[in-house]
Amino acid sequence: MNKERLLVPPGKTIKLKDFDPAYTGKFSSKEDAAGKLQSDIVKLAALQDVLYAQDTYSLLLIFQAMDAAGKDGVIKHVMSGVNPQGCQVVSFKTPSAEELAHDYLWRSMKQMPERGRIGIFNRSYYEEVLVVRVHPEILGNQRIPRQLVTKDIWKERFEQINAYERYLSRNGTVILKFFLNISNGEQKKRFLERIDTPEKNWKFSPADVRERAHWKEYMNAFEDVFNNTSTKWAPWHIIPADRKWFTRTAVADIIVTTLESLDLRYPAPDPDHLKDLKEARAALEKDHLSS
Ligand code: ATP
Ligand code: MG
Repeated sequence: MNKERLLVPPGKTIKLKDFDPAYTGKFSSKEDAAGKLQSDIVKLAALQDVLYAQDTYSLLLIFQAMDAAGKDGVIKHVMSGVNPQGCQVVSFKTPSAEELAHDYLWRSMKQMPERGRIGIFNRSYYEEVLVVRVHPEILGNQRIPRQLVTKDIWKERFEQINAYERYLSRNGTVILKFFLNISNGEQKKRFLERIDTPEKNWKFSPADVRERAHWKEYMNAFEDVFNNTSTKWAPWHIIPADRKWFTRTAVADIIVTTLESLDLRYPAPDPDHLKDLKEARAALEKDHLSS
């Protein structure tokens, strides 16, 4: 897997049009990539076990995309091997009245994964520089003092997000951000499938077609997000999303490589705990009731 091609290099400026949504790396088909995906799913389960036992790092995975790019499918497949106890998925929707009564990062902070856990954000505070930027009337509903809303608001939000993520990372949260990069044509195809297949009708919402009409504005907003918020401590990856099997393979690979680089270890028992273990063993050996 050529991960370099998927990473937005911190400090560099990229153009979204240079990232091909149909790219599949060295893999020629779903079958060809199946072994790699399966082996990464197994590795991820083992790594999660150590992450949980070590109880120091947490892992935050952020997914952003246009509708029908496959966020749900990636989350379902890539996390299929992990222990649900150590993992939580949060879907961020239109903010509630209570959430709107606070600053925009408030609701995220409450959902951050505990140490040892994996937190998955299906959408995130990045909506605040995406949907809110494409539809500025949403900003009007946020009740921010008027003199604080200037033309610099998006630049300021990028700064706030970078500082927030650096704070999290310096406290042990490892952050990976994924943009599932679906092409305009593939999105149309998937919407039509949802309309034409009764079992998929529930996935279709007319609002999705309304957002599709703002495609270009969304792409511009996304590009600006990548060029301003891909950092060493919270990098963005642009994952080709026209082939679902490749999206899953690429995301699993990046998560596994990142967890491997942490050099996670099961905690070594301290001398007191070793003594407890020895005493418990001796007591159990004397216990003849069960034999
Ligand atoms: P799916 O359609 O697969 O169930 P989804 O993530 O598209 O998943 P929806 O309920 O369809 O979920 O959409 C959630 C909506 O909430 C999106 O349109 C998103 O832009 C919007 N949203 C999320 N966060 C914010 C925010 N902070 N401000 C305004 N809108 C937001
Ligand atoms: Mg939706």
